[in-house]
Parts: sequence; C-alpha cells; structure tokens
Amino acid sequence: MNPMNPLSDSASNTTATDCIFCRIASGEIPARIEYQDSSCIAFQDANPQAPVHLLVIPREHIGSAREVREDNEVLFGHLHHVAAKLADKLKLADGYRAVMNTGAAAGQTVFHVHLHLLGGRAMNWPPG
Ligand code: 5GP
Ligand code: ZN
Repeated sequence: MNPMNPLSDSASNTTATDCIFCRIASGEIPARIEYQDSSCIAFQDANPQAPVHLLVIPREHIGSAREVREDNEVLFGHLHHVAAKLADKLKLADGYRAVMNTGAAAGQTVFHVHLHLLGGRAMNWPPG
C-alpha cells in the first residue's frame, strides 16, 4: 500500500517505463493498430474474447479508471468517442460492449487504462 495514496495497490504501481501498453503506444512493441491520433491508440487484443475485440488506450500513462482526474475527463470521453466510431467502421450495428476493468478484483491485468471494445456476438449480463 502506498501511504501517500491509500487507493492504490501494488498492482497499480506500474510506471510508464515498464508498461506494455506504453511500449505499444510508442511503437516499441508491435500491435495490430486500428486507429490512432495524438491522444489515443486502438489496437487488437492479443487474446480476443469476441469476433471484434479492440483496446482503446490513452497515450498518456494512467494506471486505471480509478485515477481519472478533472483534467483528463475529456480524454476519457474521447476513448468512448473513438470506440463508437470504430464500432460504426466495423459494422457493430447490433451493439457492442465498452468496458474498463478497474482494479485486480474486477479483472484488470494491465495497469494502463484501456477501454475494451467487444462486439460481433451476443453479450451476456451479468458479466462473470
Ligand atoms: P484487462 O484484463 O487489464 O482488463 O485487459 C488487458 C487486455 O490486454 C487483455 O484482454 C489481454 O489479452 C490484452 N493484452 C495483454 N498484453 C497484450 C499485448 O502485449 N498485446 C495486445 N495486443 N494485447 C495484450
Ligand atoms: Zn502505460
């Protein structure tokens, strides 16, 4: 536990230098990129859970959605806007699921915030 931030845990202390998604965003690690702009990048998940499974991430290293601040509210909205445009492009007319697993107990394994865009099959609720 970080005494300066009681909400953080050891798993969320990843820094940009050892972060796999920062390395994808910089081009150091290859990924199948579907979209990119000055603030975000969208690429195919390496272990897809649906016919369409993209990850939309900010270029800025932010550990999880729990760390959202007032000055990146627009950025978080932009991730959803990009996901919606990609859903149109990929013809997910019947719907899609956009989800941020937030914290280890919620299934987050990579501690660089990412929006999963899942589609192309029926989605169940509640999620597991
Ligand atoms: P989380 O479990 O944190 O919500 O989601 C992390 C996602 O990142 C998983 O769906 C996993 O398959 C994906 N992932 C992990 N490492 C890599 C990688 O190196 N490349 C790509 N394209 N996806 C990755
Ligand atoms: Zn990162």
